Amino acid sequence: MKPTVIIIGRPNVGKSTLFNRLVGKKLALVDDQPGVTRDRRMGDATIAGLEFTVVDTAGWEDDDPETLPGRMRQQTEVSLEGADAALFVIDARAGVTPLDEEIARWLRTQPVPVLLVANKAEGRAGDAGVFEAFSLGMGEPVALSAEHGEGVADLFDGLWPLI
Ligand code: GDP
Ligand code: MG
Repeated sequence: MKPTVIIIGRPNVGKSTLFNRLVGKKLALVDDQPGVTRDRRMGDATIAGLEFTVVDTAGWEDDDPETLPGRMRQQTEVSLEGADAALFVIDARAGVTPLDEEIARWLRTQPVPVLLVANKAEGRAGDAGVFEAFSLGMGEPVALSAEHGEGVADLFDGLWPLI
């Protein structure tokens, strides 16, 4: 069976853009199961011959911070279930935010290897954010641009040892 890689991060960091980049032109399967899984999208991804199932999530895309802990617990049950690795995406242009730190703390409690991804790193505008990402304590971030397709080779280098 192909390994499963789940994309996690706060809203607007570029998770869905990365998902689309990894899935390419292939049709993304919409998971229409009722309940909390309905906001997941799954697709077949290939980077340089490395094949995996990729899952896009929207579990933290809730404006009400009061509901976040409950949401995270729900996601603990469903999203990481069966995942072989997680891509934790931050926005290099925005830098590390309190919600990024909260997600990082939660991810550290999960039994799944995490690869930190600093997206929107095209040009120089993301340089400070990429550096800041080290403060999350999740190792060296993979700097990439999902929108422009830059850094995908570095994503491969970081991902293949995990899956
Ligand atoms: P999600 O909420 O995490 O799924 O984020 P989206 O994929 O919907 O993207 C949020 C916004 O960030 C959109 O306006 C994207 O066009 C933009 N975006 C995504 N990836 C990049 C990138 O690599 N560079 C830049 N500059 N913008 C990006
Ligand atoms: Mg999205």
